Amino acid sequence: MPRILIIEDEPGVQMTLEDRLQAEGYETEVRGDGIKGQQEAEENAYDLILLDIMLPGRDGFSVCQNLRNKKINTPVLMLTARNTSVDNIMGLRQGADDYVSKPFDMGVLLARIEALLRRSALGGGTGSGEEEVFSFGDFTFDLKQGRLMKKGEVIDLHAKEFHLLKFLLRHRNELLSRDRILNEVWGYESETTTRTVDVHIAKLRQKLGESELPRFIETVRGQGYRFSG
Ligand code: CA
Repeated sequence: MPRILIIEDEPGVQMTLEDRLQAEGYETEVRGDGIKGQQEAEENAYDLILLDIMLPGRDGFSVCQNLRNKKINTPVLMLTARNTSVDNIMGLRQGADDYVSKPFDMGVLLARIEALLRRSALGGGTGSGEEEVFSFGDFTFDLKQGRLMKKGEVIDLHAKEFHLLKFLLRHRNELLSRDRILNEVWGYESETTTRTVDVHIAKLRQKLGESELPRFIETVRGQGYRFSG
């Protein structure tokens, strides 16, 4: 039974979310402020975090960034009351995986939750019991710890880069089309296109130190990408 941590301060929203999520078979835990919410996320394993932005104590952006800095890669779905796209983008930059604007439609929210859980299950998130460590060149990529290391040094990855690398490594030496990567790593998100894949591949290459001479991530012209090495 997937466990969801709800970090939200409005009692009405807390109750609506808990009732509905429990009815859908999820286990839920609620924290009403940013500091306690972050603490709970650090101390206990969750499959997903629903994170409000405007919170007492510490705002959702900071909570998310702090968790990512601590290498806690639990999927985060931001609940944003503000509609401006700047906020949305900021949230995703802090390492959130997706967002839903308030007031949200419960059906939409549930679909996003399912999509995120599916994606993280695909990547072996909490509870799957899989322990996987990939090695290539000087790098080790530890899924359990959620870390990429080069000769013992941690290389910071954003949530999407993490999922992208995980997907590439799980399908090492396979030719992967942009569409497939988009579907598997991003799932359904209205604003993404295959160009998004190219942008993230470029960022990942940079972090792997291969911005000029691709060594691990090969571009297969007109077809997609392949991770070799
Ligand atoms: Ca709030």
